[in-house]
Amino acid sequence: MDPQSAIAQVKRAGLFRTQGLIGGKWMDAYDGKTFEVYNPATGEVLANVACMGKKEANDAIASAHAAFTSWSKLTTAERSKLMRKWYDLLIAHQTELGQLITLEQGKPVAEGYNEVLIGASCLEFFLEEVKHCYGDIIPQTQADRRMFVLKQPVGVVGAITPWNLPLAMALRKVSPAMACGCTVVIKPSELTPLSALAVAELALQAGIPPGVFNMVMGFAPEIGDAFLASPKVRAITFTGSTAVGKMLLAGAAQTVKKTSMELGGNAPSMIFDDADLEVTVKGLMIVKFFNCGQTCISPNRILVQEGIHDKFAAALTKAVQTLRVGHGFDEGVTQGPLINQAALHKIEALVEDAVSQGAKVLVGGKRHSLGLTFYEPTVLVDVTSDMLISSTEIFGPVLALQRFKTEEEAIHLANDSNAGLAGYIYTENLRRCWRVAEAIEFGIVGVNDGLIPAASAPFGGFKQSGLGREGSKYGLDDFLEIKYLCLGNMV
Ligand code: ADP
Repeated sequence: MDPQSAIAQVKRAGLFRTQGLIGGKWMDAYDGKTFEVYNPATGEVLANVACMGKKEANDAIASAHAAFTSWSKLTTAERSKLMRKWYDLLIAHQTELGQLITLEQGKPVAEGYNEVLIGASCLEFFLEEVKHCYGDIIPQTQADRRMFVLKQPVGVVGAITPWNLPLAMALRKVSPAMACGCTVVIKPSELTPLSALAVAELALQAGIPPGVFNMVMGFAPEIGDAFLASPKVRAITFTGSTAVGKMLLAGAAQTVKKTSMELGGNAPSMIFDDADLEVTVKGLMIVKFFNCGQTCISPNRILVQEGIHDKFAAALTKAVQTLRVGHGFDEGVTQGPLINQAALHKIEALVEDAVSQGAKVLVGGKRHSLGLTFYEPTVLVDVTSDMLISSTEIFGPVLALQRFKTEEEAIHLANDSNAGLAGYIYTENLRRCWRVAEAIEFGIVGVNDGLIPAASAPFGGFKQSGLGREGSKYGLDDFLEIKYLCLGNMV
């Protein structure tokens, strides 16, 4: 398939939206401004999208606030029924949605289709999970007293999402919030707003009431500031860079909001001498090259024990050579382009710095002949902790191998970072597996496995990788207030 046919198919399905959604109505920016969205695989303009700012954000917040009273009063079964219709529509349009993701983000279309399932699984999980969101009865402290805990939705939620999984991230944020009765204003990334806008269209088709789900995009700092300044916005949920996350955290202090933050990672993969070579290569490849390495759980520092190092580096290089770089719609392609020139330049600079300090390139190490932002899948060896590539989140298809001697050294290296999102351990030794898993400071630990996130499992980081957890029964907490209710003079 070519991009033009994909665009035509998405348009025929009515899913090519370019306006914001405020109070159930599709709206242009009030001053008529638009911004361009590009296909990173071709450099062509895909769409001109409404470029909104403070005024539109404030109106979206007001719509969400007005809708909160009725949405939060629905029973969980009533909300779940509407969200189930939304889920069914997402699944029915998996093909067009997957294509739209590939058009604006560049990933291979099989990954686009898969992303639709990832996003829909969040919706499905939370529309069920919320039915089990119980309060408590506390044993009374006086004979005539009765004591309860109620869980209530926090109110309007401002959600800010990134470009790497533009559809799944939007659904991951709004699903728990909406399921427990909150209303939302979401701001997708300006690089990839189209798939989130298609999700908004399907929310309308599913009968989600006007104002419950709003979407604005354009001037990110203006929209972000409107969220932060408004006392009506009671929670901010963000996925993106640590720098922007810290700014939002500071800003949220103005009105003391709840915040949940999924920020950057610097994931170690710890490969011990007793690892199964085949399992390790498979696990590492699947998570490293998912989305061209552009995820916060992508292994960044590949720590390899000296006994297995050379064998492992050879097997890994062989596996990397089987990858196929290309346009996301082309048959057999496993890796698309990077999102933009800034991402390309960053990776080039990291590889250049590592090589200038003694790292060796086993495969790749340069731009791909396809041009634009395509970069060759790369394996580096002899990387050390003081190189920039070890302390920076690479966010690209580069495996940086660093040798270690002992388990203690590996744990020290793994924890030597301000980030604490995902960490991976490869070993066949059960005792080592427990020791190391308990010793490393990461919110998500994978043992002999690759792509481990799931809607039913908690996702979130230690240290500067964030606050709160997405997915799982814990994922509702960021959108709920706890109310202690004490009834006196009861008997
Ligand atoms: P990345 O560098 O991966 O694009 P960012 O943190 O810049 O990560 O972007 C993640 C999301 O945060 C995007 O939706 C972006 O528009 C938004 N964003 C960027 N700057 C701000 C800001 N000052 N206020 C609010 N949102 C912002």
